[in-house]
Order: sequence, then structure tokens, then C-alpha cells
Amino acid sequence: MEPLLEVRNLRKSFSVSSGPLGSKRHSLKAVDGVSFSLAPGETLGLVGESGSGKSTAGKLILRLLDADEGQVLFQGEDILKRSRKEMRPLRRQMQMIFQDPYSSLNPRMRIGEILGEPLKLHGLAKGNAVSDEVMRLLATVGLAEEHYYRYPHEFSGGQRQRIGIARALAVRPSLIVADEPVSALDLSIQAQVINLLQDVQKEFGLTYLFIAHDLSVIEHISDRVAVMYLGRIVELASAEALYKNPRHPYTEALLNAVPIPDPALRGERYLMQGEIPSALNPPSGCPFHPRCPYAQALCSTTPPPLADQGHGHLASCHFSGDVGRHRRPVPGP
Ligand code: SF4
Repeated sequence: MEPLLEVRNLRKSFSVSSGPLGSKRHSLKAVDGVSFSLAPGETLGLVGESGSGKSTAGKLILRLLDADEGQVLFQGEDILKRSRKEMRPLRRQMQMIFQDPYSSLNPRMRIGEILGEPLKLHGLAKGNAVSDEVMRLLATVGLAEEHYYRYPHEFSGGQRQRIGIARALAVRPSLIVADEPVSALDLSIQAQVINLLQDVQKEFGLTYLFIAHDLSVIEHISDRVAVMYLGRIVELASAEALYKNPRHPYTEALLNAVPIPDPALRGERYLMQGEIPSALNPPSGCPFHPRCPYAQALCSTTPPPLADQGHGHLASCHFSGDVGRHRRPVPGP
């Protein structure tokens, strides 16, 4: 099947200043050669700590930021070559759901108007059909007709995220980039919003790039998972293979960091060492080596390539065959 989205060697650096009065300029590689593809109807989870470049990658794909290098093929066409004006008709097909939709909801507009606006803007409904369509959208995301007349501040965090999803759905997109859509919500609400995202994916045939900092959040929604560290993908595999048999020590450390309820299975030795290094001054060789329990001399001098470890399971580690020794016991069913 032809991919809906193919990202090739995407790169983005930011110029940052330091020193007295910002006299020194540095280049920070936020996204450093990221490649992956997404089949229609698929969900790819993109995961990593804060500072890994995952949100920047999402914004580059939607052209909310301009890439320095690379290609973003949407339905086979490199959209980075389109001008801003030429991007407009495509924007409808590529939508984003944000962590905090509240900041992007106009506080002076009722929800009915907020959801009706994109329908009118894109010529998808006129006159009475606009409010009919908005009512349908509200029902689709589990909100009631009475919510049509309310203002954003009258909703809970979970309800606002439902509005964010309805607004993305309003323009009938094919690709949704969901940037930490449940990170700010309570655990029980997170599960409801993820279930809703799965339901609307089936109903509308959506393709998702689902960005998260926690592997537990994306486990049940992802078909495949890509793990990012300091701007690069360090592991990419089917969700089943990655969760059962991680081949990169960073993925293993993220899996170990997932909270588990049984105190007998918790242990300090499984916690990740240190903080993510600054992308301004990344470590030599394998950038994970200062934190890696498997590191050997080779790791500090030679960057490992992102290589197929078998059955399309990609990992960038010189010693991926050793990974698993520091895995925290996985609780049984
Ligand atoms: Fe660890 Fe070396 Fe593998 Fe990097 S290449 S993840 S430092 S074992």
C-alpha cells in the first residue's frame, strides 16, 4: 500500500545565543535526519523525553515550522516545495490536536461558532447545514446539544480535548498529528479520550501521528512506535515487538520508567540515569552513551547507524543484542 505520509531525512536547527549579552551564537539540532512512513489508517506513536525533538518533527510535517532539509511526501507529493498559498487547500487534510486546546479556543465565542467556523471557511457547509453539522460533530465526540451554546471556560479539560478533536474532524482530514493530546488529563480521562480517538479513527478512516513522552500512553493506540532521542529516531518497530523486545537501551529505560502499581516490582536500579543532554552540545559517538548501562568504549567514539535488527525492527545501537538485561520485570496479567 502506498504510504499516506513519507518523511525523509527531515532536519531543523535553531539558532540560540549564550554568553554575556547573548554574544555567542550556537546551532541547536532539534530534528536531525528523521525518516519514517505512515500507511493510510495507521497510527505511529512518536515518543521521547522533553527535548527529544518529537513535537518539532510534528510541526515540520504540518508546515507550522519550516524545515531546513528533507522531504515530506503527502500522498506522494513533497509538500515542502509548496508555497504558503499553495499549502492552504492541503491544510484541511492535515490537522493537529494540541495538548491544551483551550489556548487555541477563542474565549468570546460559543462552541457552536468555534466548530462552525472551519466548516464555513472551507466551504463544507452553508446556512442551517452548518449548525446541523456542528450538532453531529458534538454527538460524535460525546458532547451534548446544549454544549453548542457554551463558552470554552465552561468545559473541563477532558471536554475541551473533545472540542479539539471535533474541530480537527470538522474539516474531514485524512492525517491528524496529535501532540501530547492526553498529557494534561487525569488517568481516567486519558483512557476516555484515547478510546474516542480510536473510535473516530475507525469511523473516519484517519491516519495518526501520535506524539507522547510516555510509552504507556501510546501502547494500545499505536500500530508502530518510533522512539526519538536528541533529534533522531533511535528505534522504530511494530508496537508489539518494541514493547516485548526493545532493541535500544533508551527504549528499555522508557519502558522501565512506566509506573506500575505493584511495589514489589519497583526498584531504583531500573530508573534512567541522568538528564537528557543539551542538543547544543550532544555527546560524541552514540549520544545516549553517558546514560547507557550497556555502553562500551566504541560507543563514545562511533555513532551507531539505525539498522534493521530483523523483520523491519530498526535500532541504532552497537550492542542491541545485549538489550533486555536491565529490563524491569513485566507484571503478569
Ligand atoms: Fe548504549 Fe552503546 Fe548502544 Fe549507544 S551504542 S545505546 S551507548 S550500547
